[in-house]
Amino acid sequence: MLNIVLFGPPGAGKGTQSQKLVDTFNLVHLSTGDIFRFNIKNETDLGKLAKSFIDKGNLVPDEVTINMLEAEVEKHPEAKGYIFDGFPRTTAQAQALDKFLESKGTSISMMLALMVDEEELTKRLLLRGKDSGRADDIDENIIRNRINVYNEQTAVAAEYYANQNKYHGIDGVGSIDEIFNRLKSIIVEQSH
Ligand code: ADP
Repeated sequence: MLNIVLFGPPGAGKGTQSQKLVDTFNLVHLSTGDIFRFNIKNETDLGKLAKSFIDKGNLVPDEVTINMLEAEVEKHPEAKGYIFDGFPRTTAQAQALDKFLESKGTSISMMLALMVDEEELTKRLLLRGKDSGRADDIDENIIRNRINVYNEQTAVAAEYYANQNKYHGIDGVGSIDEIFNRLKSIIVEQSH
């Protein structure tokens, strides 16, 4: 199986690149952000709980997120591989994911980390907020908080994969196709 963790700060382009990776490598895309937003829209119990954290730019608690992610994986037993987008976002989530995949007889193949500087991120998110209607993309203070949460709680997850020799940093500035080609060459190189 090809199991990719697509990593990077908010606004790094994970969603955009995931779509292209799914098409090229025939993977199942699991975006925890998308799943939360779907639940918020449908006013499920999970959505109501998640909304209180997401609207402030904070992380949803690990246990809730891990359970949700595992349930999503279980829905696609036929998958040739997965792209994990927005997960894991903490070391505890990374550990839980390893344990879970191990129980399925598989593992993470690699982490691909999109690197984009903070000014560029804020610019992209404010722009996205103008037409996406995402509440967490409209207010600059909430955006700053999400970037801080990333720096304080999420960036360490990269070390977790670096310790397993699975970390690959990619320049996340450039055209969509340029960045996609960077990701593709690492996947091809690593799969041989
Ligand atoms: P971004 O575009 O900021 O990377 P996402 O769309 O991936 O954001 O997620 C939006 C929000 O959903 C996050 O700010 C966070 O509150 C919540 N969220 C998403 N994934 C996770 C996770 N793995 N753990 C905890 N909270 C999460």
